Amino acid sequence: MSFNTLGLSDALLRAIDKKGYTTPSLIQEKAIPPILERKDVLASAQTGTGKTAGFTLPLLQILSQEKTLRKRPVRALILTPTRELAAQVLDNVRAYSVFLDLRSMVIFGGVNDKPQIRGLRNGVDILVATPGRLLDLHNQKALSLASIEILVLDEADRMLDMGFQRDINRILNLLPRKRQNLLFSATFSKEIKQLANGILHRPVWVEAAPENTTAEKVDQKIYRVDQKRKTELIIKFIAEGNWQQVLVFTRTKHGANRLSEKMSKAGITAAAIHGNKSQGARTKALGGFKKGAIRVLVATDIAARGLDIPLLPHVVNFELPNISEDYVHRIGRTGRAGASGEAISLVSQEELSYVRGIERLLGEKLQSEIVEGFEPTTSPESNKPISRNNYHRKTKPKNNTRNYNRRSRK
Ligand code: AMP
Repeated sequence: MSFNTLGLSDALLRAIDKKGYTTPSLIQEKAIPPILERKDVLASAQTGTGKTAGFTLPLLQILSQEKTLRKRPVRALILTPTRELAAQVLDNVRAYSVFLDLRSMVIFGGVNDKPQIRGLRNGVDILVATPGRLLDLHNQKALSLASIEILVLDEADRMLDMGFQRDINRILNLLPRKRQNLLFSATFSKEIKQLANGILHRPVWVEAAPENTTAEKVDQKIYRVDQKRKTELIIKFIAEGNWQQVLVFTRTKHGANRLSEKMSKAGITAAAIHGNKSQGARTKALGGFKKGAIRVLVATDIAARGLDIPLLPHVVNFELPNISEDYVHRIGRTGRAGASGEAISLVSQEELSYVRGIERLLGEKLQSEIVEGFEPTTSPESNKPISRNNYHRKTKPKNNTRNYNRRSRK
């Protein structure tokens, strides 16, 4: 299939060409036509599927077909859970609208609001925003939402996880009743379904499995190890495998900082990215990581959500998330665009219950190994439900090293 058959304008096709895309991704193929027909859409898609272009391209086409109003009131609102995602979505909007007469802008918290207020005053057609700052600026009368024609909720599941439900309800109350609604979410919990029911009017349901996240392309493995030996083990993996670009997840901001410092001390360039870091520091760390100047990016779930990091060969769960869906999001960072990737998890005795939750969600068992010299001090046999299933397999050290070297050359 080609982009030409989707009903997009010449200006958009030229922008797509400029980006270098030749064929639409599955979510783009499925979502663009109903959005252009002005239907509400409920889309199941996560980062890496091309979802951003999936809603941005038709949105731009719709807005560009209508006459631009002199004052340029905001006509399309894209809500995202995090600042990073908001900035990335704006980059997409700008890239696809280069040949159109449409103005776009992003607003998010953590930075001075004055330039944002000035920008809004000049008139904006498409606004990308995080919920808190949007409400804040609306309260300050810096913008009106009365002319919104299209609302996009991007990564709606994460917005709920981050406690934005009330803010979303408040925002909905500020919008005109007649509008087009697009809701994108990677997972579909009861809460998301409720949210969708309250917002969408007879939605078209579109679904696109991410290019990866399934076991076929992502080699998933668990290493049982004591919590206090994890740093040593991860450094060993990175050094011996000569891994050059590794995304590591920790559960806490503090843990992310500590691990990144220890990596640096071990001679591995690393940076931490989490909610307590300034916007500037986050952007710099991400930029360094993408360029290859930083080998290891240590992140918390929230900070990593929505980051566009293509083709990541290694994802490490330094700690497992207590929400199983987060595991799926995390491993979705590896093996993008058909390339193979490896997701490994360092699992302490205390985290074994999380493993079971993840396995239930994935519907499969994860392969578990123990590295010689890093045997957990608590006997795995003490954990009956797991050891009954022959869960633990001890790996010979020689094989283990060979496996690592082989995979790292892929
Ligand atoms: P997203 O899922 O929107 O975060 O997009 C993931 C990555 O895929 C981004 O780097 C996009 O620029 C890229 N992308 C989006 N659509 C296409 C396409 N049709 N062909 C190739 N790459 C694409």
